[in-house]
Amino acid sequence: MEIYIHIPFCERKCNYCDFLSGPADERVRAMYVDALVREIGTRAQEIGRGEKITSVYFGGGTPSILTERETGAVFEAVNAGFSLADDAEITIEVNPKSGRDKLHFFRSLGFNRLSIGMQSVHASELELLGRIHTYDEFLECFVDARDAGFSNISVDVMTAIPGQTEQMLAETLAKVTELNPEHVSAYSLMIERGTPFYERFGDIEGPVVGEENERKLYWMTVDTLKSNGYKHYEISNFAKPGFESRHNIGYWKRVHYLGLGLGASSCMPEDGSDVRSRNTTSIETYLSDPLAKEESSVLTRDEMIEETIYLGLRMMDGVDTDEFEKKFGTSVRSLYADTIDDLAAQGLVYEGSSSLTLTDLGIDYGNHVFAQFLR
Ligand code: SF4
Repeated sequence: MEIYIHIPFCERKCNYCDFLSGPADERVRAMYVDALVREIGTRAQEIGRGEKITSVYFGGGTPSILTERETGAVFEAVNAGFSLADDAEITIEVNPKSGRDKLHFFRSLGFNRLSIGMQSVHASELELLGRIHTYDEFLECFVDARDAGFSNISVDVMTAIPGQTEQMLAETLAKVTELNPEHVSAYSLMIERGTPFYERFGDIEGPVVGEENERKLYWMTVDTLKSNGYKHYEISNFAKPGFESRHNIGYWKRVHYLGLGLGASSCMPEDGSDVRSRNTTSIETYLSDPLAKEESSVLTRDEMIEETIYLGLRMMDGVDTDEFEKKFGTSVRSLYADTIDDLAAQGLVYEGSSSLTLTDLGIDYGNHVFAQFLR
């Protein structure tokens, strides 16, 4: 089982971001930490220490915005309430401006993986995105993180930024590969409703830079990272061998996870099925009742099958069809023979002896492929 902890605070909202996050004053942050510690304690009692936790992920928002005392309180609550595996992957997302002391503190607390939001090396792109840091601040953070003892660092890169040329992306990727982080996440910018970018660029469905350009920048990212020793293990994620994110893989493989904090989602077993739930997204409600749920539903067998396929296809190793058969008592082929044959004939999927994977063309038409598996 995995744990996700949501810290919904950021110094300032980025122009493209539709995550459940935003600025808050110290008083609200302190009240939030109290509520979160209460939620962790209660959920831990319900679940018990029998289940080993293989991954803990502090995400946001910007978890590094909390004070050391607050981060320590949340970390200790998790440690006291749950049974963490000896080799658990314990990640915290940090802003490049977190500062040296905090990075050393995170390492001493027990975090063993950092995720740093860099996005670009170009001042013009960082400014357009509304990021609060410069490339030099990211660089300082990366060096400080190594110095603090982090040997597993993930760097976020954004592609398909309006105005981004191939040359600009090449410069960003060159600087990243020079630093040699263990993991890189590279997502294309999409315009989300309710963001300043939505106001600015309008209600466009695809990427601002156009589909063709976006694909060109995507494949350039894949090729550059692969030629620098990164394994392309998921559509948008790359890792040095052995450094694939356990947190990410757990999600795509449908490992059970407990989400704690404002708006956090969980997928937990109950009576032989899975229950998907989401915590309240209202900060006022959460502060007074951190156990409040916004929604909760029992997944049907069909829903679990669909998720197993379309989440599995996101990974370059694809869906493990042997594992699928063991879990559901029926083969992928027996459920989807026509779909698989059609997609294979179009060159979009490849069916191996024990896997079903996207082809390169299938990656370009991923959403179309996933939709074919919805029953
Ligand atoms: S720092 Fe991350 S979570 Fe916060 S506003 Fe920017 S993109 Fe969103």
